[in-house]
Parts: sequence; C-alpha cells; structure tokens
Amino acid sequence: MRRTLELGQRVELQSRDPHCHDISLGLYHQESEGGSVYVIHTYSSHPDGGLRIEAICRGLIEFAGMLVVSRDPQLLAFPCGQRHEKAVRRSFLELCKLSNSEIGGFLPLVRPDKKAECDLTVEVNGPGRYRITAAEDGEKGKRRCQAVARGFSKLCEMDVSASDLSMVSFDCGHEHDRLMGALFFRAQNVRSAFKEDELAASRGTLAAPGNQDGNA
Ligand SMILES: [Zn+2]
Repeated sequence: MRRTLELGQRVELQSRDPHCHDISLGLYHQESEGGSVYVIHTYSSHPDGGLRIEAICRGLIEFAGMLVVSRDPQLLAFPCGQRHEKAVRRSFLELCKLSNSEIGGFLPLVRPDKKAECDLTVEVNGPGRYRITAAEDGEKGKRRCQAVARGFSKLCEMDVSASDLSMVSFDCGHEHDRLMGALFFRAQNVRSAFKEDELAASRGTLAAPGNQDGNA
C-alpha cells in the first residue's frame, strides 16, 4: 500500500530506531494542492513498524500540532499548510527518542531555566507571534529570553523582531502553540541539539551498509 505511494523527498532519517528493533524511519516531504505534507515511512518489513509509525504520527499531532490532512491517517501537515521543515524534522527526531508508550500529550509553555535562575514563559503575542518572558526582572533573565528567542529562530526558522529581541514570529502568521511548547527545551539549549545531530549523523554514516571501513 504505502510502498506504491509516491513518498516525496526524504528530509530526515532515523537510521536505527532504538525503540523499534533498530529499523530505519524516514520523514518525507511532498507539496500538495493544499500545501506541504509529510509522511513517515520505513522500508523495514518488521511487523512492529506500522505501530511505530502510528505512534510517531500521533506524536506529531499532539506534540507538534500537526493535522491529518486526508483519508490517509499518515499524511500530516500543519494547519497553516506551510512547510516549516526544520521544525518538523526536529519534532520527528525528538519523538524517535521516545518509546510508543511515552509518546502523547503536549509540553507546557512555561519552563524553569537554570541560567536565568527563574521560569521562562513563551507568551502568545499575536497570530504566529511569541514573546519569551522571564518570571524575574534583571539582566540574566532578559539575556536568556533573547537567547531562547534566537534558539527558536534557528530551530523553527522564525524571525526575531528587530525592535524586541525576545520576540519571534512565524511568517505564516498562524498559531503554533504546541510546536512552541514541544521545542521550548531545545530552544533553551540549541547547541546541545546540534551536537546530537552531528553525533547521530556520524553514527548513521558508520552504520551504513557498504561503508564498513569507516572511511566516511
Ligand atoms: Zn505555520
């Protein structure tokens, strides 16, 4: 069924899923009439593969705020129809770290921040626009709000406001509250997210069949 469908372009790969028998999972992007659509696919014939894909799709819906866009429950898109590719890729990779039973629900828009020494909040400031605020006044909190805003701009391709460096917005002008909650902890430490990507990429390269000499 799925195998006969056009998958589109692969934009992310989980080369070995530790929660599903080390199968590989690909995230594919397609442009449709209604906008950007994503689908997750595995070439593995392992019987648990289907359930795993279902769980990650459920995660993308609940955790990142995506929607099922057709009769096929595995074709997902954002309500705005925009691509937001980096954000989808990041959400997908985060979900691959969780077991099926751990996937579900969404994350809050308030989080403690060690460096700010207080809670930070992602406040809705208009359609698709968010402001990061600190529970306590002071230089530390202010700096951290701006750092988290920069983190969101890198992770989700958002624009930082020129007049307020703690404000970020999606150019679609659409609400993405769940996505902001989902990637808030990543925006607090973008460097560690990128470091993990490098590690995963190097592991993927070394593990690739036909490349066993490690000469990547
Ligand atoms: Zn959008």
